[in-house]
Amino acid sequence: MNKKYSIGIDLGGTNLRAALINSQWKIKERIALATSGIREEALKQIEEVIEKLKKKEGDILGIGIGSPGNIDVAEGIIYDAPNIKGWNDVPLKSYVEGKAGLPAFIDNDANMMALAESRLGAGVGAKNIVCLTLGTGVGGALIVNGKLYHGAALTAAEIGHIPVNMNGPLCNCGGRGCLERYVGNRFIVERAVERIEREGGSLIVGLVGGDLGKVTPEIISQAALKGDKLSVEIWNEVGRYIGVAIAGLANLLNPEIVIIGGGVANADFLVFDEIKATIKKRAMRMPAKMVRVVPAKLGGDAGMIGAGILVWEKMVDRL
Ligand SMILES: [Zn+2]
Repeated sequence: MNKKYSIGIDLGGTNLRAALINSQWKIKERIALATSGIREEALKQIEEVIEKLKKKEGDILGIGIGSPGNIDVAEGIIYDAPNIKGWNDVPLKSYVEGKAGLPAFIDNDANMMALAESRLGAGVGAKNIVCLTLGTGVGGALIVNGKLYHGAALTAAEIGHIPVNMNGPLCNCGGRGCLERYVGNRFIVERAVERIEREGGSLIVGLVGGDLGKVTPEIISQAALKGDKLSVEIWNEVGRYIGVAIAGLANLLNPEIVIIGGGVANADFLVFDEIKATIKKRAMRMPAKMVRVVPAKLGGDAGMIGAGILVWEKMVDRL
């Protein structure tokens, strides 16, 4: 194989990262852009970064793209992604192949993060991995026997939409009481604000100058680190919800490792300790004993690196 690089692209609702990835899965050139979250602009930006990276290095194997949403990974079609306007039924694979004249592979962004973490991050050496990414949405990925698990309609591993409360609030997905409805950023903030309005007496009030519209997960973390009781309880509760979902997954899949990425800012320990305690309490003995819960290692680059690795693994048989 003479080709020396793949192009890995991680498309998000607010930014796009792209890089040349060599056969050792190292980053050579990288580009980061802000995105508007609108279909036409996203397509144009993808095209532009590919052209720029092709100019840096002519020897390109193919292009991998991680995108939010439900994706037909075989056809390279994005069915829908709520965070990018108009990002429904986008034939991204054929579009990119047509524009760039190179093979393209499309997959879900959480799957790409999981692929990178399993190959060179927190999951190295593990064969059965559950990945969870926390943020506005809650993404998930499964690696079973060393390979990404996609399911029948190729939409598997929506861990954020595991119900953790049968009678819980309605979720965007049409379900009720989904994990994301409790641990998605917006809902963490919503619960904190509700409790402050009801109970008062939190350091958060001072940190936002009395304007509860300014509460963010970062602010709740700041308050928690200063010992604010309500904020500590909020993060512990986040950990409990995640722990309940993972206890179910541990019973179902018996994974060696659960990797948690994304932002709980500096309050990670409050969340992780509670996740571990909940799994111990709720999961069956052997899967609970086996599973390790660890933070992701590769940070914000994971999705982009994973998309680059996807190309290498699809085109050069490494598995
Ligand atoms: Zn849902």
